[in-house]
Amino acid sequence: MPKDEARAEAKDAPEARNEARGESKTRTIKIGDTDTVAPGEFKHITFKISESSTGRPIQTPILVANSKEPGPALFLVAGIHGNELNGVGAVRELIDQLDLSTMRGALVCLPVVNVPGFLIGSRTLPNGEDINRLFPGNKDGSPGERIADMLLQILSQCDYGITFHTAVDNWFNMVHARCDVSEAENRRLARALGTEVIINEVGLEGMLRRAANDIGIPCVLVEAGEPNAFDRTVIDEVVTCARSAMVDLGMLKGEIKEPIFRVIIKKTEIIRSDHGGIIDMKVVPHQLIYEGDPLFAITNPFGKERDMHKAPFTGMVLGVRTRPIAGPGTPVVLLLKLDKTLSKIEDKLKETWRAKAAEVAVPVVSRPQEPILELEIKSDKRGMDDEEGA
Ligand SMILES: [Zn+2]
Repeated sequence: MPKDEARAEAKDAPEARNEARGESKTRTIKIGDTDTVAPGEFKHITFKISESSTGRPIQTPILVANSKEPGPALFLVAGIHGNELNGVGAVRELIDQLDLSTMRGALVCLPVVNVPGFLIGSRTLPNGEDINRLFPGNKDGSPGERIADMLLQILSQCDYGITFHTAVDNWFNMVHARCDVSEAENRRLARALGTEVIINEVGLEGMLRRAANDIGIPCVLVEAGEPNAFDRTVIDEVVTCARSAMVDLGMLKGEIKEPIFRVIIKKTEIIRSDHGGIIDMKVVPHQLIYEGDPLFAITNPFGKERDMHKAPFTGMVLGVRTRPIAGPGTPVVLLLKLDKTLSKIEDKLKETWRAKAAEVAVPVVSRPQEPILELEIKSDKRGMDDEEGA
């Protein structure tokens, strides 16, 4: 079925929401030319993605958990940027929790894609290539293009995909999802992750999620925390998100993570320092802010304030610079513009807190499940991928 027709059909048939692609299928997953994982098998595979200059193989770990029970195939890919470790931690933990006897479908996990970068704490391959700008790759191309081609061969056997990233160096982003929500199944997967924020963007040329979308595989990026660190809180949140998506796809039994509110938005805005100096940060990621609220001050080494940057609009803090040093033009805070939407979110939060307080006081109180407040903010301006990370 052509992509547009499939999209129109998905929109016309909301009752099909609980049906996942590949739901009634079992399959054998092939890894490269030699390894296969049949239904009922759980295998750790070391897969050769390249060769070092001493002729030794460079291998990446792959885990395939393939249930005898039919269900969708999902890929989880982390460490495509070798210094982005929270996703590595989350996928590792998910693997540890897996029980093939209670799972449906197939899970293909690549916890550390960019092994050479991982070993030296680098986003890119040692030759400077960013694998996540090289998809769909080329089997006769550059070292990075060959790796991208090999990976996509494996991942193209799946029905859905999630890729895990963090912010760029010196930056922290709250956990959120990024995808092209105009595709119904991308939107479904992003919602199922249960994050409060979904950035609606197609993604840059060469990104894995865009290449997956181009061959008809719904794929969502999860952005989580800062690079070069294992952040316990962030990893726990990401594991919960990924498990929630697997529950929604019918692969696991359990609970779907429901956020109190959800914002689907295209536009993000970077607030930059106007002067050089030391950053005195006044906000934290996840914070709701009103126009005119202080965001950060630039001070000199004697503590004297040179400049106070205030919120140019009402919204939410998505990310902050973690290195407290800035020059003129340095990005310092990443905001979502919410305007009137913010008061709706605040009302919803207050309502939830009141409800929670009531539950503590009167434990027998029960009330019907409240629908999630979901707000989609449309704007044509694209986000700023390269500076934010991903
Ligand atoms: Zn990344």
